[in-house]
Amino acid sequence: MTNTLIYIRTNGRGNAWPVPLGREHPFYNKSQFEDLANASFSIINLDSDKNIHKELLIDAGHGAIQYLIQSGNRIPDAIFLTHPHIDHTLSIDWIVQSYWRQYKKRYPIYASPLCWEQTLVTFPQLDKLVNFKPLYPGKARKIDEYPEMNVLFYPVFHGESALGAGMLLFEYEQTEKIRKALFTGDILIPLLRKRDLEYLQNCDVVYTDANNRYPYPNSNHWSVIRPELLDEKESEFLNGWLKSKANKINWLIRPNVPLKYNKTIHGFFEEFLKEKYSGQELVLSVFDLSEKINAQNIHLVHYSGIEDNKHYGKRILNTNELQLWVNKAALQLNLKSEFIVPKVGDMFQWV
Ligand SMILES: [Zn+2]
Ligand SMILES: [Zn+2]
Repeated sequence: MTNTLIYIRTNGRGNAWPVPLGREHPFYNKSQFEDLANASFSIINLDSDKNIHKELLIDAGHGAIQYLIQSGNRIPDAIFLTHPHIDHTLSIDWIVQSYWRQYKKRYPIYASPLCWEQTLVTFPQLDKLVNFKPLYPGKARKIDEYPEMNVLFYPVFHGESALGAGMLLFEYEQTEKIRKALFTGDILIPLLRKRDLEYLQNCDVVYTDANNRYPYPNSNHWSVIRPELLDEKESEFLNGWLKSKANKINWLIRPNVPLKYNKTIHGFFEEFLKEKYSGQELVLSVFDLSEKINAQNIHLVHYSGIEDNKHYGKRILNTNELQLWVNKAALQLNLKSEFIVPKVGDMFQWV
């Protein structure tokens, strides 16, 4: 017997190198290996004995395997990749090889075609071991390994090297209500059309990139806030970047557009560009997204704070300080979202 309770577990919450060797970082507990893993999540359906019935893994960088072995020691049913950077892909080899050795079958991985192509540059051996399932912008796809659930891909800009980067929206239909969980992956600018923002309204939960609290676009990460939202001085880094780069909208979409014409992908961006050229604003921070889509819960992961310290003289925070700071700021702005800084192993009850 299965029940319909679905949880989202935080398997890792770190940025690329949470604690660089030779340094300290107040956010990460260096005596706990789990806390030094890269951001990764599992959507988990438990059976009535509390065993894992289904598990979908979103990103798998450093440290994902150690955590999976420790908690259930079970191969997830499929992997979903937000983008091809190794702090999101390093552990897929171990998972795919484990599956191959046990079942002599190709392992299912979902990603955009460009993301997968780039991932194969790092792991060419996986080409023959993976059953690749492409995701296209704005298109829902049934998850074969969990047919009650859909996944949708929305492209994002996360720098020129993050080919085919995107957010993943998981949908589960429950008594006529569609439940939605969004994983933004690493992100500087979401490439969302008006109708996508409408579609994301009242999302149950968002897991997002909180690499820095204040804007520093050269990091290729967005920020939690824009300072002017809190009546602080506008960010010269963001303003400078918007002037020099973001008005070249074609440049923002380039890492997501394949050379070969694809009706779905190119069609998506034609609509996106048309709206941008007629004045539709870009979404520039976590708070801007919260305001636009009214997500109920927003989880902040991938925190580094190094750019805040270097460019704004702001202290690097620990978990409790980040949680307090973000909720105080959200209250000041009357945001509807509740903000959470999860610890590794946290189980969020989604459905
Ligand atoms: Zn990352
Ligand atoms: Zn990245």
